[in-house]
Amino acid sequence: MIESIEGDRIGVRCVECRESRAVELRGIEVRTLNSATAVVALPTCACGAVEFLVRAMRPEPEEPGGTTHRHQLLVDHLHATLARQGRVTPDSKDAEKVCPEVARDVLARWFPDGFSLWPGDAR
Ligand SMILES: [Zn+2]
Repeated sequence: MIESIEGDRIGVRCVECRESRAVELRGIEVRTLNSATAVVALPTCACGAVEFLVRAMRPEPEEPGGTTHRHQLLVDHLHATLARQGRVTPDSKDAEKVCPEVARDVLARWFPDGFSLWPGDAR
């Protein structure tokens, strides 16, 4: 999962070994799968785990503001950022359409203190 987005890097926590690490945006790309779905493959963790962040149409969150909802917003924001920067795989089509920007007021509402799942945490 990703825990934060800061400038040109993201904070990642491995779902297998729980280790945290920083990943540079220049090392990852968006791949579009169809007109509404895209994935970002995170670099392989030292433990061997490979994680994919998926952007897709989804229903209203069951728990607005919960960790699942806010993680998904970070994933969507990351996809939009990469697409806008042209960091997309050669086989991707219309990446900026597939990965639109998350509405500013939504980001401002759920991330008033920056793009971190755990605001105020010094990790
Ligand atoms: Zn790991």
